[in-house]
Amino acid sequence: MKNDPPIRYSIVVPFYNEQENIPPLYVKLTEVMDAIGERYELVFVDDGSKDKTFKVLSDIYEHDPRVNVVQLRRNFGQAPALKAGFDFARGEIIISMDGDLQHDPDEIPRFLEKIEEGYDLVSGWRVSRTDHWLTRQLPSRIANRMMAKLSGVDLHDFGTTFKAYRREVLSEIHLYGELHRFIPALASWAGASVAEVPISNIARKNGESNYGISRTVRVLLDLMSVKFLLDYSTKPLQFFGLLGLACLSGGAGIGLWIFLRKAILDEGLLANHGPLMLLGMALVMGGIQFIATGLIGEMLARTYYESQNKPVYSVREFRSRREAMAGRDEPPRTAGAGGW
Ligand code: UDP
Ligand code: MG
Repeated sequence: MKNDPPIRYSIVVPFYNEQENIPPLYVKLTEVMDAIGERYELVFVDDGSKDKTFKVLSDIYEHDPRVNVVQLRRNFGQAPALKAGFDFARGEIIISMDGDLQHDPDEIPRFLEKIEEGYDLVSGWRVSRTDHWLTRQLPSRIANRMMAKLSGVDLHDFGTTFKAYRREVLSEIHLYGELHRFIPALASWAGASVAEVPISNIARKNGESNYGISRTVRVLLDLMSVKFLLDYSTKPLQFFGLLGLACLSGGAGIGLWIFLRKAILDEGLLANHGPLMLLGMALVMGGIQFIATGLIGEMLARTYYESQNKPVYSVREFRSRREAMAGRDEPPRTAGAGGW
């Protein structure tokens, strides 16, 4: 198949226990993509599902050569599952979406229009939301505001995976934890241009959402780490140093005050204000310790994953007509004769 034109579009969909949703999604997706008329492939990732997801995907794979199935060894989570799909995808443009029918394939052409306009990353924006107001909408609204502010990327909705990317943008980004949410921030930081298109927000019909309110907390923690990584990973001393200086001067102030009262008034300070002072100091020190430990951990994780290029997932099996994992079956690059 040497003379085949390159694949233009890859559609990457992670599935975790979505057996009922796969056939209708597949039918719709192929309809929409066939209408576009360019060469495309589907990359379906089974994220260690416990139902018949893999069986359903394999059946589709058997009769459609455009389908690739990546089965992960266990449930790694949405971000690693997406990353596995991205690594396997060969298209010049990659589209990611959920496999639970909450994203409508009919909207894909809108994303592609923006990409054709020249944007590197196009993100969906759920203009009117149908999910629960208190547990989903409100936390998401607050998180979106904070993310827009902290990352400096002017998006309304960071939470949806319905997105289109130019391939180069993705290959630069390392995904782990809940980091798929931060792709626009990371991409824009790396210089990509980012646009937004409105999408509808469809309620889930089959199966259950894999997330609840606890996700908000985890997203906030990830937000802290991304902010830290983007701003301070190359100059951690400015971050820790400031905190350290503030603590030191506070401690020195208290020490001086105690010393003076002791020296001038001969007051027994520990007896007068002791417990409160100790508690305050212990809390401040403890808090700083926790934050610092967390951030150092983040830096270690980054070194661990990025410098050694460790995969954040492990593949059990591939179903593809292609021979090996993307990136490993590239023909060796030879230096061209012309100096281009
Ligand atoms: N998903 C996954 N692994 C997980 C959790 C979810 O691959 O551990 C997939 C899931 O099958 C769906 C998408 O990620 O296609 C979004 O998940 P979900 O619908 O649970 O999230 P929500 O729509 O509630 O944000
Ligand atoms: Mg969903």
